[in-house]
Amino acid sequence: MITNGAGQPCGLVTNIQKYTIHDGPGIRTEIFFKGCPMHCLWCSNPETLSPRQQLGVYPKKCLGVEKCGYCLKACPLGAETPIRFEEGQLQPVVMTGACRDCLACADACPAKALMVWGKKMTVDELMKVIVEDRSFYARTGGGVTLNGGEVMLQWEFAELLLQACRQAHIHTCVESALYCPPEHLERVLKYTDLLITDIKHMDTDVHKALTGVGNERILDNIRLAARMGMRMVVRTPVVPDRNNSEENIRAIAAFLRDEVGGAVIQYQLLPYRKMGTEKYETLGMPYPLGEDYKPPERAEWEARLLELKRIVREEYGVPAEAGSSQKLPV
Ligand code: SF4
Ligand code: SF4
Repeated sequence: MITNGAGQPCGLVTNIQKYTIHDGPGIRTEIFFKGCPMHCLWCSNPETLSPRQQLGVYPKKCLGVEKCGYCLKACPLGAETPIRFEEGQLQPVVMTGACRDCLACADACPAKALMVWGKKMTVDELMKVIVEDRSFYARTGGGVTLNGGEVMLQWEFAELLLQACRQAHIHTCVESALYCPPEHLERVLKYTDLLITDIKHMDTDVHKALTGVGNERILDNIRLAARMGMRMVVRTPVVPDRNNSEENIRAIAAFLRDEVGGAVIQYQLLPYRKMGTEKYETLGMPYPLGEDYKPPERAEWEARLLELKRIVREEYGVPAEAGSSQKLPV
């Protein structure tokens, strides 16, 4: 587990979002953990992929190397620094190889042109933020959602944070792709009221091509969560020409009906949205689906989602919805 300078356990957090309403019931505080073992082609949060702190580069904010240049002076690598300027313009910094990930350049930057993704936070620091909105949770049936990246990559810290929420009588939700050892999952689910997970493809080879890993462990963990009596929301991000075939959605629906049964309180078919492209640029990473990848017009994909929802509901008896804005059954 990560620790801070005082030796206290910490989570590495990329973002805390307040007043969210789509990832669990009611009004929630959502904590985004950094690090993910999967690399989905449509990921809109590339800053959460690496399990380490990293630099985001915003060239437009840079004051110019002639006027400022503090980042270069702060970098311990001297002439070997990976920070580069071309015609006075700051270039993406790739934090591999020579870079020591010390983040001294970001600390020195007065213009926030170099910023750090990932902050170490203790349970106490997070609980202080979480309890601020206790009255909203009480009024709306909300609470806390742990999200990522992949929560289970920091499962020991997640367990501690969820325990603290339980002690404070705050509803807990974990959103995870479940690509993790089952014994870690069992520990975390003991303190989880609702699990949100997803199935991207039922064919493990296609799943591997889309996400970097096969689906066997994920499906086994969904079965395990159901055996543990966990209430679940299951999602499929429906990505045109990647996993939106009727055959795939039917296979997912059959799995949910036959192997997970009543544990699924809602199955959500989520529309693909091209998001996060600016963040890819700031991290010096290409958009994995390709810069030119364009989804069909809204009317077309909306009609497609509604048709898939109808099939899943009527033919498989699984409580499907198009999107994540429908109220969850209590
Ligand atoms: S993170 Fe450290 S080593 Fe890397 S570019 Fe910045 S100052 Fe240099
Ligand atoms: S310290 Fe920041 S503003 Fe100054 S030159 Fe470096 S990146 Fe630009």
